[in-house]
Amino acid sequence: MTQFVYVFGGDKTEGSAAQKNLLGGKGANLAEMASLGLPVPAGFTISTDMCTTYYDNGKTYPKTLDAEVKKALKHIESAVGKSFGDDNDPLLVSVRSGARVSMPGMMDTVLNLGLNDKTVEGLAKKSGDARFAYDSYRRFIQMYGDVVMGVDHYEFEDVLDTHKRNKQLKNDTQIDATGWKKIITDYKEIITRFAGHPFPQDPHEQLWGAISAVFNSWEIPRAVTYRKINDIPSGWGTAVNVQAMVFGNMGSDCATGVAFTRDPSTGENVFYGEYLINAQGEDVVAGIRTPLPIVEMKKTMPAVYDELLAVREKLESHYCDMQDIEFTVQQNKLYMLQTRSGKRSAAAALKIAVDLVKEKRITQDEALMLVSPESLDQLLHPTLDPKATKNVLGTGLPASPGAATGQVCFSPDEAEELSKKDIDVILCRTETSPEDIHGMHAAKGILTTRGGMTSHAAVVARGMGRPCVAGAGTLAINDRDGVMIAGDKRISAGEIITLDGSTGEVMLGQVATQKPNLSGDFETIMAWADKARRMNVRTNADTPEDVATALGFGAEGIGLCRTEHMFFDADRIQAVREMIFANSTDGRRKALAKIEPYQVNDFKAIFKGMDGLPVTVRLLDPPLHEFLPHKTEDVKLFADNMNLNIESVRSRLAQLHESNPMLGHRGCRLGITYPEIYEMQVRAIIMAALDVQKTGTDVRPEIMIPLISSKNEMTFFKDMSHRVAKELIKQSGQKLNYMVGTMIELPRAALRANHIAEDAEFFSFGTNDLTQTTLGLSRDDAGHFLPEYVNKGIYPRDPFVSLDIDGVGQLVDMAVQKGRATRPDIKLGICGEHGGDPSSIMFFDSVGLDYVSCSPYRVPIARLAAAQASITHNKEKITKLKKDA
Ligand code: PEP
Ligand code: MG
Repeated sequence: MTQFVYVFGGDKTEGSAAQKNLLGGKGANLAEMASLGLPVPAGFTISTDMCTTYYDNGKTYPKTLDAEVKKALKHIESAVGKSFGDDNDPLLVSVRSGARVSMPGMMDTVLNLGLNDKTVEGLAKKSGDARFAYDSYRRFIQMYGDVVMGVDHYEFEDVLDTHKRNKQLKNDTQIDATGWKKIITDYKEIITRFAGHPFPQDPHEQLWGAISAVFNSWEIPRAVTYRKINDIPSGWGTAVNVQAMVFGNMGSDCATGVAFTRDPSTGENVFYGEYLINAQGEDVVAGIRTPLPIVEMKKTMPAVYDELLAVREKLESHYCDMQDIEFTVQQNKLYMLQTRSGKRSAAAALKIAVDLVKEKRITQDEALMLVSPESLDQLLHPTLDPKATKNVLGTGLPASPGAATGQVCFSPDEAEELSKKDIDVILCRTETSPEDIHGMHAAKGILTTRGGMTSHAAVVARGMGRPCVAGAGTLAINDRDGVMIAGDKRISAGEIITLDGSTGEVMLGQVATQKPNLSGDFETIMAWADKARRMNVRTNADTPEDVATALGFGAEGIGLCRTEHMFFDADRIQAVREMIFANSTDGRRKALAKIEPYQVNDFKAIFKGMDGLPVTVRLLDPPLHEFLPHKTEDVKLFADNMNLNIESVRSRLAQLHESNPMLGHRGCRLGITYPEIYEMQVRAIIMAALDVQKTGTDVRPEIMIPLISSKNEMTFFKDMSHRVAKELIKQSGQKLNYMVGTMIELPRAALRANHIAEDAEFFSFGTNDLTQTTLGLSRDDAGHFLPEYVNKGIYPRDPFVSLDIDGVGQLVDMAVQKGRATRPDIKLGICGEHGGDPSSIMFFDSVGLDYVSCSPYRVPIARLAAAQASITHNKEKITKLKKDA
C-alpha cells in the first residue's frame, strides 16, 4: 500500500527537509523543524503524490486514504490532548497547501477548521473568551465559504461593513460576541443562498472539503499563471498540510508574525520582520492592520523574542541559508508554523551568499548555488540618477530595488494588454492579491498604497525582480474613477510616473536613470563563478558599444558577430542594394568594393576591443529580401538613385521575391551563388586583422560560415577562405592565426557533422535556426500560437527561449560526438539565444561544449549559470564514481 499521509510533531515525525518533492516545501520543513526540536504544532501532510493520483483518477481518492487520515488525526489529538469534533474542548486544525517550491499566496488556506454551532460554545467556555470563539468561528465560515464553497468574499465583507455601520463601529476589534453571533447567522444564510447548500456542521465533512479545495486549487487560474511564469511543471502537484491550530488572537499575550533571518532587501545580517499582537496569521499578510517591526518585541514580549533569536540562529546554522519564517505566540508560548528559504532581492542574494562564506557556514561553490542566475538581471538595470530633479508625489516602503518608469495603470488586465504593445506600465493598486499576478509580471514596476514589507506585492515583486514601492500611505488610489490622489494632485491612468524601489519614492514624470553600479559582492561572486566554471562565456556583439558592454560584464570573446547588421547603415544599404540588383559578377564586385572599406573599419574596431580574445565573424546570412526596399516611397527613391525606371525596379523585386525566404536564398547559399560577397568579407576580416595586429594587438579571428548542410559546401568555403587569406597574409609579410569553421544550425549538418568536421575547425551551434528547422516551427510566425502550446503543457517552455533538450538537444549532442570523432580538438560553442538561458546552459555543459555566447547583458547570468552547471555535473560525477566503487 502506498503511504500518502506523513505525521509530524508530538511524539513522532516521519518526514524531513530532503523530501520536498513528496511532502511539498512547507510539509518537509515542518517535519524538519519538528525533528530539530523546535516548537511545531503537531500535524500531518498528505503527499504531492496524492495530488497527482487525485487528478489521474478523475478527482477521486484511493479507498485507503480515509483510514490514513483518521490515524493521522489521532496523532494530532494525542499530541494536543483534544479531540476533533469534541463539543467541550474541540481540536481545531488549519489546512494549507504546500507545493515543492513556494508559491506565495497562490493557493488557499483554511483556518479554525472543526468549529461548528456546538464546538464554538465549547471553545468559548474553555478559553473563557466568547468573543474570541465567535470571532474564530466567523473567520472560519468566511474562509471556508470562499475557498471551499466558492462564495465571493465580498459578500461576507458586505455583511461585516453593514454591521459596523449600523452599530457605528470603526474596527473589527470593537465587535463583541453577540455581534459576531449575529454576523455568523448572516454568513450562514449567504452560504446557503450562494452555494445552494448549508455550511457543513460535521468537522470531518469540513476537513475533506478543505483537503479537496487545496488539491483543486492547484489548477485554479492564478496558480496556473504562477507556475507558467516560474517554470513549475503542473505534474509536481501540491501537498496538503493539516496542523493543530494555535491562536495569536487570544489576547494581548498572543501574537503572530513573519520574519526573515536576514534583511531580504539588502541581505544585511539583521533579524528582520513584523508582528501583530492579538492577531491571526492572515492579518499580517493582508496588510489590514499595520504590523510592528520585530525589534519592538524585545520590549513587549522579551522572553519570546529571545526564544525567536535562538530559533533564528538554529535555523540558519541548520539550513545554511537565509530563512523566511512564520510564527504564532499563544499565551506567551512560541510556535513555529513555517520555515523556508527566503525570497530575496538579487543584491541581497549576493550579499547573503558572500557573508555565509565569510561566516564559514558554506563553501564558495555552495554560495554560487544560492544565487539564481536570472536574478542578476535586476542588478544590471538602471537606477535613478542621484542628480536628477525629482517631483516626489509620495513615499512608501522600498520593497524591491531598482527604478522603473511607465504609464500609470490601475488594472492588471490592462497592464498586460499595454505591455503586449511594448508600452511600459507601473501597476498601481491599493494592495495586490494573487489574482493580479499577470499584471504584476507585465508591469515594469509595482506601487501599492497599503501593506508592509512582507505584503503580497512586496514578496512577489522581489521574487520577480520588479521594482516595487509598497504601502505608500499618502497616496490614495480610486480604481473606480481611475485616479490616484497625491495631496492636491490627481494622477490619471496613462500619466507617466517613476518608482524608486530602493528608496520608496514615487515621482511624477520620467526621472533620469544611470547605469547600474555593481557591488563588491557581485564581483566576488563572479570571480568565484569564473573559478568554478569549465565553459567559457562569449558574447554576441556586432558594434564597438556592444563589445565594450560585454567586456565590462566579463565576456571572453565574441561568439557571434552578425555582419549583416553592418550592412544596414544608411551609407551602405544603397551599395548593398546595388550589389543585389547587379546582373553580373563585375557589377557585384563594383558594389562590394564600396562596402569593403566600411567592413574593414568595423572589424578593426572590434578586433582592437577584443585584444587577446577570439572573435567569431559570421559571413552574410539573412535572405536578400531583408535588404530590399519594400515601401513605395523607398522603391521610388532607390529607382531614382540607381537611375532606373520604377517599373524595372519593381520587376526585379518580383524576380527576387521568395515564398519562404528563411528556407531560401540565404546563409552560405549566398556565398555559393555570389562567391564575391564572401570573398570580400574574408578579405575585410583578414586585412583588418593584419592591420590591427601590426599595432601590437593580439587578434584571433574565426571565420564562420552560416547554414551549412553538407561537407561539399564546407570544402568550397574552406578552400575559398584560405585562398583569400593566405594571399593577403603573404603580401603582408606577417604571420596570422585564424580559423575557418561553421555554424551547425540545420539538422543535416548535425547528422553529417563527422564529415563536415574534416573541413571545419570549429562548430558553433545556431540553436535558433536549429530549433526552427528541427521542430518545423517558423521563428517569425510561431509566436502567434506557441503560447498555447506552453499553456496546454505540450511544450514545457517556449523552445526558442529554453532549448528543447529532448529533440534539438539530441542533435547537438550527436554533432558534438561526431565532430570530436573526426577532429578531437574541434572547438565547440553555441551562439543561439539559448546561450544566455540558465537551464540550456546546464545542458550545454553536460554535452561538453567549450563555450556559450549570449547577448552582452546576459554575460554575467551565463557566467554564473555555467559555474552552477560545472558544480552540479562535478557532484554527479563524484556520486557516480562513489557508486561504481
Ligand atoms: C542561430 O540560428 O541560432 C543564430 C545564432 O543565427 P541567427 O539567429 O542570426 O539566425
Ligand atoms: Mg541562424
